[in-house]
Parts: sequence; structure tokens; C-alpha cells
Amino acid sequence: MKNIYDYTQNQLIEEMAEIGEKKFRATQVFEWLYRKQATSFSEMSNLSLELREKLIKNYDIQTLSLVEKQVAKDGTTKYLFALKDGGLIETVLMRMEYGQSVCVTSQLGCNMGCAFCASGLLKKQRDLSAAEMVGQVMFVNQELLKEGLRVTHVVVMGTGEPFDNYDNVDRFVHILNEPKGLAIGARHMTISTCGLIPKIDQYSDNGLQTNLAISLHAPNDEIRDQLMPINRVYGMDALRQSIKNYIAKTNRRVTFEYILLDGVNDSLAHARQLAHYVHGLNCYINLIPYNPVSENGFQKSSAECVSAFHQELLRLKVNATLRKEHGSDIDAACGQLRAKKMLK
Ligand code: SAH
Repeated sequence: MKNIYDYTQNQLIEEMAEIGEKKFRATQVFEWLYRKQATSFSEMSNLSLELREKLIKNYDIQTLSLVEKQVAKDGTTKYLFALKDGGLIETVLMRMEYGQSVCVTSQLGCNMGCAFCASGLLKKQRDLSAAEMVGQVMFVNQELLKEGLRVTHVVVMGTGEPFDNYDNVDRFVHILNEPKGLAIGARHMTISTCGLIPKIDQYSDNGLQTNLAISLHAPNDEIRDQLMPINRVYGMDALRQSIKNYIAKTNRRVTFEYILLDGVNDSLAHARQLAHYVHGLNCYINLIPYNPVSENGFQKSSAECVSAFHQELLRLKVNATLRKEHGSDIDAACGQLRAKKMLK
């Protein structure tokens, strides 16, 4: 069955024209879904009974059901959802000073095989549909509404490589951005990639001012080859050129994510190499404390080491921030809760 969360407003107008419905009907349905947070067609009281029945027959609304929920002391909430086909995904709500940010999963499993990441412990089974990504945001949004809050930011940084599911992810951000929908500002949405160059090029033309984050995690090809298999396909020079083009085209600042791994990429010499790599790019570096995954043997860098690395970047006039840890008392590392459940 089709899912009603799978459409931008214009796509829903076209879609509903096929079942003989006028444009304004589609607009009404769209507003029910995203403005009034309807979770069933039967509550859409200004639609005729006949139309409501037609919708019930042709479309689903829900895409997922809650399996488990963990709430950390800092309010970070991790949701484990089951999809219609039984696949398990994780979604995380992070409470920030600037709003409520949801970290969305884009694929069931991941094929990128990054050595430090729990998501790659389980290979990709399939891509998520746009509706399945919208469903994650809607679920969290409906929970927040009970507190008088809403989802203000979205990061596509959960399990999966979003640029390996480009069309659905692109559709997803367009749906969230719809003025008559959730109206989440493009500048409040970030897509994070391990560096699929052709898709970075495509993304610079997506027509929305969404943000780009690059998972770099290494200051040179030698280390990056070891940590991230994708680097053997798209090396760091080509990656830098592609990011440079992206910045020139969009005039947007790019974020580099850099996990500090004990004894692997966290020396002062590495910091200097990193500074050299990003020199001349409109960017900032987000240093990420590693969330240890018991299966792979990497350790997080010591606090002193992290601080020295950070200071070295600042000394070299590189914009760098240290990411605050969220929900470290729950299974908050990427894919941890899911992996635990599935490997059991
Ligand atoms: N595939 C995309 C998005 C998912 S990963 C990408 O590579 O960007 C999202 C971010 O979480 C990446 O920067 C990833 O490297 C990081 N990450 C993965 N496992 C982690 C862990 N155990 N601790 C801290 N960050 C982690």
C-alpha cells in the first residue's frame, strides 16, 4: 500500500488527481497531516465520508511502531521502531539550547563499513522510503507536542548513508520543508555523508538551503583508507575538490565531523595535517568524542588529548567546536540499540 507521508504538497495534488480529487482536497489532507498532526483519515472531519473512505482504502499513514524507548538523564531520547516489514530502526531526539533536533535513520543497515561504527555491523537490507523518514520525525513531533514543543531541527545522521539513498532523502527534506507542512527551515536540516562525491555534486543543485556535513575522521588518506573503505574509492584530494565546488556553488559553509580515536587520529601532528587540509574552505570542524562500540576495539581519546587537539586547531585559526555528548548513559552510539537487539 502507498503511504501518504511520501509526498510533497505538489506531489500529493498530482497523486490525488489520479483518484479524481481536486487540488484543494489534497491541500486539506496535507494540512491535516502536518498542521493538525492527524494520525488517521477518519479524524479529517472537513473531508466527505466518501473521500475519507477512499483514502483509507488507498493509503497508510503510519509507517512504524514503537518497540523500545530509552530516555537519558539529559533528556536525549532514543526510539527503536519496527517498520512494516519488521525491520528495526533507531531515531534519536536531542534537546539543544536552540531547539529540538531529531536524528533520522536513512537505511536499514549500512554498506559503508566504517571500522568504528556500530551501524556497519549489520549490512544494508534496503533503503528507507521518504515516508519512513517522515514517519520518524512525525512520531517524535507528536510526542513533543504534548509538552508544547515541536521538532525544529533534523539531522540525517542515523544509520545508513543518506547519499546512497539520494532520491528518497532529497524528497524527505523537501516534504519537511513544505510551508503548509512541518515547515522546518532548510537551514535547520543537515545531511551527513561519508563522501560520495557524485552525490555531493548533485546535492549542490537540490534547490534547498540545507546543510552538508562530511564525515572526515582522518587527516590523511593513509588513515582514512583504514577507517573508511569509501576513501579507497573517493580519496581525500577529490573529496576536497568536490567540497570546494559545492561551497562555490551554494555559498554555504560545510561541517566536517571528526571523531577522535585514541592513538589513531588524535595527535598534534594530525591536527596540523587536518588544519592544512581544510585551509581555504568555508567550513568548521566538529570534534566528536567517540562513543565506544564494544565489537571493534577503538577507544575514545583522553580528555587532555581532545583538548590539546582542539587548541591546536584554534591556534591554526581553524573553526573547531567540541561536540557535547548526548545521552551517554543510554545506547546512544549510532546503531547501538538496534545492533544489540538484532545480534541477540
Ligand atoms: N553515513 C553518514 C551518516 C551516518 S553516520 C555519514 O557517514 O556521515 C553519522 C555520524 O556519526 C558520522 O560522522 C559517523 O562517523 C558518526 N559515528 C558513527 N559511529 C560513531 C560512534 N560510535 N561514536 C561517535 N560518532 C559515531
